[in-house]
Amino acid sequence: MKNAIFGESFQYGVDVGWSFYPKDNDATIELQNLAVLDQEKTAAEVKWTRANDKAAPLLCTRDPIRVKQKQTYAVEVEAMGRGNIELGVCEYNPNFLRARTMRHQLTEKTGTFTFSCTPSTDATEVRPSVFFNAAPDGDTKTQRCVIFRVAFWVPEAEFEGAIVWPENWKEISTKKEVLAYFGEKFGNYHGIRATERAAIVKEVQVTGILPPYSPIKHTAKGKYALTTSAWDFSRSVLPDRLVVKGMPILTREMELIVERGGSPVPMTPDGDLRVVRESGTEVQLARYCKSSDLKIELRGTLLYDALLLGTVTLQPSKPISVDRALLRITFPAEVARYIRYNTLRGGGSETRPWRFGFGPITAPGEKFEPKYNLLNGRWKNEWRPAVYSQPNAEIWKWSEVDWLPEVWIGDEERGLAWFAESDQGWSYGAGDDTFVLKREGERVVAELRFIAAPIELTEPRTIRFALQATPPKPAHPDWHQLRLSGVTNTFAKRGGVDEAFYRKNTAFASIWHSLWSEGCSTPRVKSPDKLKEFVQGCHASGVAVFPYLAPTHIELHTPEGYYYGKATQEWAKIPYQESVPISVSDKDKITGAVKTCVNSFFADWMAKGVGDLIDQYDIDGIYFDNCTIRECSNTEHGCGWRDADGEVHATIPFMAIRRFFMLVRNEFHKRGKPPLIWCHGAESPAEISFIDFSVLGEGVYGLDHTEQLSLPEMRANFIGPNQSGFVRVFLPQFGYGHEPKEAYREEVTRHLLALTALHGTPAWWIFCNATPFAKMANAMDRLGDGPVEFVPYWKWDVNKSLNPQGVYASMYKGHRGVVIATSNLSEKGVEALLPIAALRAAMSKWSSTTDILDGGKVEVTADGVRLTVKAKDVRVLLFE
Ligand SMILES: [Zn+2]
Repeated sequence: MKNAIFGESFQYGVDVGWSFYPKDNDATIELQNLAVLDQEKTAAEVKWTRANDKAAPLLCTRDPIRVKQKQTYAVEVEAMGRGNIELGVCEYNPNFLRARTMRHQLTEKTGTFTFSCTPSTDATEVRPSVFFNAAPDGDTKTQRCVIFRVAFWVPEAEFEGAIVWPENWKEISTKKEVLAYFGEKFGNYHGIRATERAAIVKEVQVTGILPPYSPIKHTAKGKYALTTSAWDFSRSVLPDRLVVKGMPILTREMELIVERGGSPVPMTPDGDLRVVRESGTEVQLARYCKSSDLKIELRGTLLYDALLLGTVTLQPSKPISVDRALLRITFPAEVARYIRYNTLRGGGSETRPWRFGFGPITAPGEKFEPKYNLLNGRWKNEWRPAVYSQPNAEIWKWSEVDWLPEVWIGDEERGLAWFAESDQGWSYGAGDDTFVLKREGERVVAELRFIAAPIELTEPRTIRFALQATPPKPAHPDWHQLRLSGVTNTFAKRGGVDEAFYRKNTAFASIWHSLWSEGCSTPRVKSPDKLKEFVQGCHASGVAVFPYLAPTHIELHTPEGYYYGKATQEWAKIPYQESVPISVSDKDKITGAVKTCVNSFFADWMAKGVGDLIDQYDIDGIYFDNCTIRECSNTEHGCGWRDADGEVHATIPFMAIRRFFMLVRNEFHKRGKPPLIWCHGAESPAEISFIDFSVLGEGVYGLDHTEQLSLPEMRANFIGPNQSGFVRVFLPQFGYGHEPKEAYREEVTRHLLALTALHGTPAWWIFCNATPFAKMANAMDRLGDGPVEFVPYWKWDVNKSLNPQGVYASMYKGHRGVVIATSNLSEKGVEALLPIAALRAAMSKWSSTTDILDGGKVEVTADGVRLTVKAKDVRVLLFE
């Protein structure tokens, strides 16, 4: 046996054997690695602090090592320290990565730990890895581990071919050389010609209203009817009344309040509401009001996707002091049931941390403890409303050093989002409350305080914000028939379920860029024949195809990626971010990406590329990954804003990503293809207007998702249809840190199905045992074409008798049958009764009752149906 890990020194970098994640420039991690302890032995000392529960490091070999199936390999680590490490491999085939690990306890005495690995049948390469994500005993803050040696033992015969050994490296070896290589390769490329560029802009331009939206209808003076909402601006540019899906979501007019000397300044209207422009796509309104020494100009643009873009300009006639200025939105308590907020900053750095929360807006006496967390607790749902007993109370506030750019409040079917692209014009400091949520009896009040710290107003000050009523459009009508399989690139055998299963059961397939494109997130096709063959094969089996792209990055190893991303940075998000090439041993394998901003011509270029893919390959939609927009200060393409001192501040391009999805949607629409747009990684207001599906759940690890998600969290953030105008799809990731044979057990999938079936949420059949999802989908198909009515547990009164047992039942009613999912979320098995009266009320008659998941006969007695439901499991019945 020989050790296939070369360079036994633990030097970090692309030209030696090891990689640390996160990168060592991450401020939250202190990595004192790579120390040479003595002349004999080299060692990596990993010392890290779990600051704010942020990233924990991982050490892995730079190059994947080729492995043979059915062969057993040993990873061996010699180490000492405190706490635990997880030892294992990251497994790869061309389409996926899977970690397999085993936990070991470290001591102050050097020990040798081994992990025995037999690659899964679809794995072609592994990267031996040491994970430091286990909290050390007795101290969750710091961990120290000294690694003396790591070995991956391979048979002599496999050694030569295990990796490309350094002596065989050709021209390139360091990052600098890689970038020089790009420069040389694309040095003669000077971008798209001006005439061609103008033609692209013209070609992808959207004129008119995109289905399923209808034009804005002017119903009476100041009143407008949209696809799902009705807005009344009789008195102001801020709505007096807002009705969504037939229900008023405000209890009084939305108010702009300016406070001076401790009380609101009485403002009087200055002239009538002015309609500046009125069409089917938008309405522009303007209004002035005034007090003795302050005039306020309010401007609003209502767009057909239920978006109101607002501008407030405070114009003092002489220097005045203002204590506070805020937008006050008053909801009926029955609508303000849930909240979601997100800082969108991403990255986990100290100065711009990613913060998010979602959950119930608690009533008096109600308590909520979030369960949801990502990457084994690296990020947590932060929503913690106050526990209070009085009818009037403060429920929550945001007083952080940075403002909150995005908040949504609503119930299971409707709501209102508020967002701002920047805090230009605001006044606040650390500790000032910029967002406050209060209960006032039967009302819930949200205050968005853009002037939260007193200021001296000497000149006009403008603040921009936006509101979006949700859902802006209905969700895709076939949401209940969604079958997104694990198929990526090939109909491969997965999780003990074979090719024939997927051919029979799949309706949608996504294709990873490695099959067809020149790199990650470029519409440039590298393998036209492969792509054609894949699409034709899928279409012959009735499977729709979604190539993988992203709105937030582009492959560096393409002319456009290099030129617009790196050389000119015209498409780049600023601050500039470039990923390190992950492989340099083989030129054809070089990959790297530049973070892009959709506020640039990149959006138009990508839309044009999508149009070409539709024309040439007959694709059915796009799977967009990494849809989280990040702040950008690239003034060259219109982002950022400059303060009085000339300093540039970043903006968050919410409206640009809306436009991006609008352009892409239009490419399908104008060719007469119903668009199927997938969005993974985010669903911000405005971004959601033109998408069909959103994929969530990635990073939620563990073998029992009933322990990872509470019902209020599901209702705030994971309802499939109806709430937001697109379909939420759950992406399971049970397996991280577990043996695949554990994660692929049917029981594990059924824990998740117990939650998703209750909330109308389809799941992606990936990284899991797909059989329960497939059986559920087959049952849904039996409901017949046409609309299916979803009757969730919170609206179906049969739950009154079930819920005290920890049992919940939701129903799907189609014109040919009814599916009922009954989940037991308690710790022990129960016998639940679906009473005959409830069944008769749901359907007039039925002739057969099928047990979808377990098979066998279901007896319907004079009492109804008695079901034995195991702990954290679900039973699904089909009545036809
Ligand atoms: Zn930008």
